[in-house]
Amino acid sequence: MKKEKHILLMTTGGTIASRQGTEGLEPGGPKELEQEIANLSAYYDVRVRDIFCLDSSNIRPDEWQAIAAAVFEERGKCDGIVIAHGTDTMAYTASALTFMLPGIDIPVVFTGSQLPLSHMLSDGPDNLRTAFAMAASGIPGVFVAFDRKVMLGCRSVKVRASGFSAFESINTGYIARVTDRGLAIAEENLPVCAGPAALRPEISKNVFLLKLTPGLSPAIFEALAEMGYKGVVIEAFGLGGINVLNRGLHGIRRAVEMGISVVVTTQCLYDSANLRVYQVGNRLLDMGVIQGWDMTSEAAMTKLMWGIGQGMTPEEIKKLFEISLAGEITL
Ligand code: ASP
Repeated sequence: MKKEKHILLMTTGGTIASRQGTEGLEPGGPKELEQEIANLSAYYDVRVRDIFCLDSSNIRPDEWQAIAAAVFEERGKCDGIVIAHGTDTMAYTASALTFMLPGIDIPVVFTGSQLPLSHMLSDGPDNLRTAFAMAASGIPGVFVAFDRKVMLGCRSVKVRASGFSAFESINTGYIARVTDRGLAIAEENLPVCAGPAALRPEISKNVFLLKLTPGLSPAIFEALAEMGYKGVVIEAFGLGGINVLNRGLHGIRRAVEMGISVVVTTQCLYDSANLRVYQVGNRLLDMGVIQGWDMTSEAAMTKLMWGIGQGMTPEEIKKLFEISLAGEITL
């Protein structure tokens, strides 16, 4: 069979490439994927590039930058890229890469597994195959492929700690599914992305994700400002509810006055926050708080980290959240 597509597999560690060590599963390298690479080579011209070897819990923004730089460097040399990655922080990495690689012009597909490839019943082979099929599709963007489904990287969330259907596409449909016709692409779910492709990896680490709880002290916002944070994503209640009694709003007002960008999303996994509905929300908007609408926390965090890292002012960041860069928000 003529192998028409050249697919690059980047390895970064994770369960998929892990082996049993004395202290439990530990990340291995491309060696753990050898058998599967041989199987995939029957269909594609496969090249492997080892980026690093980490449990994804240890992946930080520096590693996002390393992956983004490698993808940008390789994009003219292959038809698509598959990135084997741990599942725990895959949604963060996929979201971050979406913003770091605006207008990416090839498919970049993250995948991993819940059981190591060395296990006879691993979900890894299946996930890799779906990811390779997507990488060969010619559809540009950053995606997550898992359990026979493909979704936008910036809409994916890990929803199961151990179940095989570990990822969901939040507030938007799947980009593709494996069906009896092969990989069926849902064209209507593809976002409109403008090129040309660029590498913009600068990102700020000074963004905090705050899950609101009843009775949370408003002093937390001033404490975050003192610690040097430049952005806060608040996972508020329901449609965006925030406790306003007992000086609840005072801390947020002070934070905004101090130049901190505050984005409000909802701690509900599905549907959208909308601060316009309740009095408490409208008060926040009047203070300059930014609507995160239906973004995942991972996408809101990384978009804010990226905007600040790009040197945007709080005003520019507000505008950044009023546009969709790659389908991460429904406007
Ligand atoms: N702890 C692993 C990781 O994220 C979990 C996995 O890959 O499924 O690297």
